[in-house]
Amino acid sequence: MKGLPLVLLLVAQADPYSLQREEMVTSQIVERGITDKLVLAALRSVPRHLLVPERLRPQAYDDTPLPIGHGQTISQPYVVAFMTEVLRLNPGSKVLEIGTGSGYQAAVLACITKHVFSVEIIPELGQEAERRLKSLGFGQVRFRVADGFDGWEEHGPFDAIIVTAAAEYIPPPLIRQLKDGGRMVIPVGSPFLVQSLMLVEKEGGRVRTRNLMPVRFVPLRRGT
Ligand code: SAH
Repeated sequence: MKGLPLVLLLVAQADPYSLQREEMVTSQIVERGITDKLVLAALRSVPRHLLVPERLRPQAYDDTPLPIGHGQTISQPYVVAFMTEVLRLNPGSKVLEIGTGSGYQAAVLACITKHVFSVEIIPELGQEAERRLKSLGFGQVRFRVADGFDGWEEHGPFDAIIVTAAAEYIPPPLIRQLKDGGRMVIPVGSPFLVQSLMLVEKEGGRVRTRNLMPVRFVPLRRGT
């Protein structure tokens, strides 16, 4: 800590992980080309270490996904940043997330817009994420325990949809619940193999898909 400017020293005392978080944003996110200011500000502010299991806190800002229990994972920070940037959100966007998991991605979205809806199929994960996000001041996020394949009809259509589990194909209800001009980002492919992160754009009633990069996500399950 010696030699640090006083202001950074004070910040570090208030939140012992703030320097790790700043380092994560600089070396993993900015360095790899993410430029959206809203996305960078969100990654700078969400306390990722409070959304992973307590024993993994020291690794929370590492360049890797981490286990969060129930066989699920919190995505690598860069993947969260990349997927969020692809959605081109603004403070008025209404966004649906499928796969709440730890709640980290939902918190990142909630730093950008007040209109975040998140669906999780495993009740324990959904309830725990809701509790934690409330305690961190993200009380405006709406949660639901259900099969996200069906989206969240009552609150649609959405400006943006982010799916954080890999689907074998793009769920038709999600395409229907995307606004015209809306964007969806979703990993598509076989479970446990390399999948393609796809961008789905709806324009004038036409749906266009584009392959963005290879990724590995846990599978999108079916049923509740
Ligand atoms: N966005 C999460 C990443 C979670 S991993 C985060 O920031 O931590 C993927 C999550 O999708 C898991 O929690 C898994 O239980 C959930 N999931 C899998 N199939 C689902 C489905 N059909 N509907 C909703 N959630 C699902």
